[in-house]
Amino acid sequence: MQLLDGKLVSQAVKNSLKEKIAQLKATGSKTPHLAAILVGSNGASETYVASKVKNCEEIGFKSTLIRLDEAVSEKELMDTIEQLNKDADVDGILVQLPLPKQINEDKIISLINPKKDVDGFHPMSVGKMVQGLPTFIPATPYGIMLMLEHYKIETKGKHAVVIGRSNIVGRPISILLSRNTNPGNCTVTVCHSHTHNLKEICLQADIIVAALGRPGFLTADMVKENVVVIDVGITRVPDASKKSGFSIKGDVDFENVAPKCSYITPVPGGVGLMTIGALLMNTYNACVGE
Ligand code: NAD
Repeated sequence: MQLLDGKLVSQAVKNSLKEKIAQLKATGSKTPHLAAILVGSNGASETYVASKVKNCEEIGFKSTLIRLDEAVSEKELMDTIEQLNKDADVDGILVQLPLPKQINEDKIISLINPKKDVDGFHPMSVGKMVQGLPTFIPATPYGIMLMLEHYKIETKGKHAVVIGRSNIVGRPISILLSRNTNPGNCTVTVCHSHTHNLKEICLQADIIVAALGRPGFLTADMVKENVVVIDVGITRVPDASKKSGFSIKGDVDFENVAPKCSYITPVPGGVGLMTIGALLMNTYNACVGE
C-alpha cells in the first residue's frame, strides 16, 4: 500500500507556481490576485478561507479577504461580486460555500465573471468541462486529477466508483474520470443516497472516490484487493483529546481499508491539500489567461 501524499504533491504544485511568479515579477508583469468572500462565521468555512489566503501569500499571490455579515442581503453580496468583476486587478473570485439561507447560491455563482470563476462552479465553466474544452475545473476534483497524474496511476479502462453526486465533488470528478484523457478513460459508476447494492458495486471498483461526508462509511468488506481509494470526506467529530475539541475524519475506515489498497489518500493530508493547490493553479491561469 502506498499513501497518496497531498502534502508532497501540493508542495510540488506550489513550488512550480512560485517559480512562475518569480518570472512574472522579473518581467514586471502582473501577479495573480485572488479575492475571497466569506459570509458569516462558520468555523469550517473560516478555516478553509484562512488556509486559501495563507497559501496565496506563501507563494507570492495577492489576496483579499472580504468578510460579510451572516445577515447580509442577497443584493449586497451581488453588489460586492459586481465590483470584483469590474476590478481589473482581481483575477479570481471565490465565494466560500455554503451561504446563509436568505441567499440563492445558484444566482450568486452565475453572477461571477466566468473569466474569474476560479472555483469552476459557473454554469459556463461546468458546460465547458463536460465538453472537454479548456476551462476552470472545480478545485477538489482538479486536485484529485493532479494527484492521480503525479503518482502515474493507471486509469484507462478501469472501473471507477464515485460515491456522492454533488456539484462540488461527485458530479465533476465522475465527468473528469470518464473523459478521453489521461488520467481519465475510466468506466464510471456514480452512487448516491438512493443507490441499491452499494457494497456490491464498490466491490467491483478498481478506483473508489468517497465523497459523501459520512465518517468511516467505506469499510474493508466493501473493497477488493489492490483498489485505489480517494477519500474526499472532511467531517469534524468531537474529540476531547484535541485542543480544538474535534478531529477531522474522512469517509473511509482508513485503518482497515488501507491494508487492501494499492494506493490510498489519508485524511487529513490528502485531497484537502490538493484542493488548495488546484485553486492556486486556477488563479494563476486566470491571471495569465491560460
Ligand atoms: P454533499 O452533502 O453536497 O453531497 C453528499 C453526496 O453524498 C450526495 O450526493 C448524497 O446523495 C451522497 N450520499 C449521502 N449519503 C449517502 C449514502 N449513505 N450512500 C451513498 N451516497 C450518499 O457533500 P459534498 O459537498 O460533496 O462533500 C462531501 C464530503 O467531502 C464532505 O465531507 C465534505 O466536507 C468533503 N469535501 C472535502 C473537500 C476537500 O477539499 N477535501 C472539498 C469539498 C468537500
